[in-house]
Amino acid sequence: MNIVRVALDLPLPRLFDYLAPDAVESDVGRRVTVPFGKGLRTGVIVDLATASEQPDAKLKEVAAILRDMPALPAEWLALCDFCARYYQTPLGEVTSFALPPMLRRGKLPRIKKPAAKIAVSPAPTFNAVHQPPLPRLMPAQQAAVSAIFDTAGFHVMLLHGVTGSGKTEVYLRAIDAVLARGGQALMLVPEIALTPQLEGRVAARFPAAHIVCANSGMADAARARGFLEAHAGRAEIVLGTRLAVFMPMPRLQLIIVDEEHDASFKQQEGLRYSARDVAIWRAHQSNIPIVLGSATPSLETFHHASTGRYTMLELPERAVAEAMPAVRIIDTRREKLQEGLSAALLAGLQSRLDRGEQSLVFLNRRGYAPVLACPPCGWISRCRRCAANLVLHLADKRLRCHHCGFEARVPRACPDCGNVDLLPFGRGTQRLEAMLVERFPQAHVLRIDRDSASTPKKWQALLATIHAGEADILVGTQMLAKGHDFPLLTLVGAVGADAALFAADFRAPERLFAQLMQVGGRSGRADLPGEVLIQTEYPDHPLYQALIDHDYVRFAQSQLGERRIAGFPPFSFQAMLRAEARSMEQALAFLATARKAAEAIADGVTLYDPVPMRLQRLMTLERGQLLVESLSRPALQSFLTAWMEQLYALKMPGGLRWHLDVDPLEF
Ligand code: ADP
Ligand code: ZN
Ligand code: ZN
Repeated sequence: MNIVRVALDLPLPRLFDYLAPDAVESDVGRRVTVPFGKGLRTGVIVDLATASEQPDAKLKEVAAILRDMPALPAEWLALCDFCARYYQTPLGEVTSFALPPMLRRGKLPRIKKPAAKIAVSPAPTFNAVHQPPLPRLMPAQQAAVSAIFDTAGFHVMLLHGVTGSGKTEVYLRAIDAVLARGGQALMLVPEIALTPQLEGRVAARFPAAHIVCANSGMADAARARGFLEAHAGRAEIVLGTRLAVFMPMPRLQLIIVDEEHDASFKQQEGLRYSARDVAIWRAHQSNIPIVLGSATPSLETFHHASTGRYTMLELPERAVAEAMPAVRIIDTRREKLQEGLSAALLAGLQSRLDRGEQSLVFLNRRGYAPVLACPPCGWISRCRRCAANLVLHLADKRLRCHHCGFEARVPRACPDCGNVDLLPFGRGTQRLEAMLVERFPQAHVLRIDRDSASTPKKWQALLATIHAGEADILVGTQMLAKGHDFPLLTLVGAVGADAALFAADFRAPERLFAQLMQVGGRSGRADLPGEVLIQTEYPDHPLYQALIDHDYVRFAQSQLGERRIAGFPPFSFQAMLRAEARSMEQALAFLATARKAAEAIADGVTLYDPVPMRLQRLMTLERGQLLVESLSRPALQSFLTAWMEQLYALKMPGGLRWHLDVDPLEF
């Protein structure tokens, strides 16, 4: 009896068996259409069998095995299988996610006539086509490039260097070496917005190479085509965001993860994977080197590099001779601020205006004000669906929930008492923008946040304005912090940063340090010295003191010291069970049952108490969480596997949903 075992995109941790009289060994890794319920579904064949393990022997027959593209390789299936086991997600959900939507639906893109160069065998002489002469590598860069290839096989390297220290140049040299040997290289970046810029740089360096991009913003057909090109080995370089880690690449020889610390490598829904961690597993599987690059590595990565598990590669200087920006702390405890800005920052902005240079005021909060309030009666703008305030957006006169997207008109009077003098409390980018426009009427003030740069097109237009030197003062969120060159920018002011110092999330200081380093790194390129002014009520805080000295290592070591004492990652391993239900009682009761079930099997694993999540209600659902933690990764993993079996078997009240998040980043 010929049986195929199929991974289907269903929330059930099992495979599905079907009869397939004509199935052959080489069909493993092919997509297949099967009858399921009343309709048809497309899945992936992961195995052949002669007998079914499923109790009901009434197996149905497959509708069709799709033999229109080469089968996915065993390595790809193994990668999906690893994710399924590690992230406790059904294999069918993983394979489905790892395929581009079009292939997932059982379709194929129309194949464009292949360009002539695609037919050419790989390993042409790439060096011959470089037009501008390559910069001479600095010794540290040279050492880094050598280290990547000195050791054969799998090894992880941390390339640590500030913005402008020449990390990208190191990546390009390493890719060059890979191409020269006929290999494929995979490069992951955190943001879709960064791919066009990087693609340009990579394409300019390797004009003869076939480069494929992969990100969720691409049109269906283009994404599917890229996937097939990589799979066929025709694409030599794959550039993409986190989902690119699933691109099949038969001759993969190098993986690069740029800005490896960036939280966007971790997916926050569905398959909650970390692309960086999956990339490391993949490098191990393929027995190839992997380079993690960052100016502010995640503390997990830095810890591994300091303890010798990873190789530390330092790029200690900026490549183009220029100093790091001077970082100054502005103590705002005794100063009366003008709309949140200190005299020193205002003076700094004025002097840049006088000199025709650009400034940036960094405030990581969009909107006009975080809340609208009626002081006499105490009314405040709350979201009906979430336990959160509605943010005032004066630019289009709306109140908006930043969690669920709910919006409403700004009320003319208080809905509770009729008072017409409603007051905005706190400050967002729009308010800062309005203040700056009033204060510096001669300046062109440009706001850059997710509202003003809501589409890639708008974002590109904003970048063009900045590059053309047409903007004098930029007001922006962390959107501006990442990977862009602003040659005229010489002043960065950071306001409202203190909140992250005392946040409930133990990773908040790590993120704040990275953001401030990054945003500061935007200033002072192209021969103009940069200056960073940080307004704070905690001028002596070690985080700011380390920033003054650009001393990531000191900051990292002090944070790691605190984490060691508290038993937080990387000194422990965590998973979070989250539940959402119509009432908090229900959510917590489910978590309590789950905890009870865990007690008998929690060997070497600490179970915490179920608690409401920080954002207690989202989209009308009440949310609770239960943290589990262990000093041993294997202990946690085997516990989770056993626990999941029990959780799947639990009877659940209607409307309750739960998921497990392994290595959670958000608390
Ligand atoms: P990072 O990726 O660390 O921000 P880049 O690799 O982009 O740094 O380098 C910053 C700038 O310095 C780029 O314009 C790059 O072309 C240039 N550069 C890099 N390495 C060298 C070098 N060895 N000599 C001269 N210029 C260099
Ligand atoms: Zn909401
Ligand atoms: Zn009122």
